[in-house]
Amino acid sequence: ALMIEARSISYAYKETVALRDVSFGLPKGETLAVVGPSGCGKTTLLSLIAGLMPSTAGQLRVDGAPVQPRRPGTALILQDYGLLPWKTVRENVALGLRIRGMKPDAADQALREVGIADLAGRWPHQLSGGQKQRVAIARSLALGPDLLLMDEPFSALDALTREEMQDLLLSIWRRHRTSLVLVTHSITEAVYLGQQIMVLSPRPGQVVGLFRNPTVGD
Ligand code: ADP
Ligand code: ADP
Repeated sequence: ALMIEARSISYAYKETVALRDVSFGLPKGETLAVVGPSGCGKTTLLSLIAGLMPSTAGQLRVDGAPVQPRRPGTALILQDYGLLPWKTVRENVALGLRIRGMKPDAADQALREVGIADLAGRWPHQLSGGQKQRVAIARSLALGPDLLLMDEPFSALDALTREEMQDLLLSIWRRHRTSLVLVTHSITEAVYLGQQIMVLSPRPGQVVGLFRNPTVGD
């Protein structure tokens, strides 16, 4: 079964064509890395999958249904973390649970999973970049998503922290088998994390190739 099925989707911002004729299928539980230079349409593709805006052409299905805004199982993780500065780490992670009327207990479990249970009482400004990214991942994990969308999640981090976070993401994926779409400009990252690798060209937002990468697996 496919988590994402894209058939000839295109997107244009007024005159700017950002994506042209993109097709792919992401089987449930698998990972896709979308790689390409700045301006090739990576963020646009992720926004379409997240249902933030409708594609201007083509069909996009998520878990068998036409993509819709605020699908409960979809989690979007952005580069800038989006933590609320006036809430502690634990409260940042628990907030999504509270909004959905769920018990906040899953927050501590999620913080343990990303290895920062000991930082639950801190404020966001007391965290390093890598720690903030861990909080952002925990916040999504706590809700039990079946589709994780990540937009350049590690590019603001130093090289060592980035490698740590890539390993963390891989171990989380191995444990949960959450379908994952990771957008990156790093071919190294794409090869490390993507079972499929889609290469996009900025002229304009066209697929150069869609490759199977057998080196990411069990
Ligand atoms: P990437 O994430 O790969 O850098 P984007 O999806 O952000 O690429 O952008 C793809 C193309 O669409 C670029 O040419 C960019 O300038 C253009 N674009 C992105 N957002 C907007 C917008 N809100 N309005 C107009 N053009 C945009
Ligand atoms: P990075 O280079 O990974 O972003 P930092 O140099 O920002 O790391 O942080 C290194 C360590 O210092 C981390 O363990 C972090 O928790 C701690 N730290 C950073 N900023 C603060 C702060 N304002 N108050 C307390 N601890 C902090």
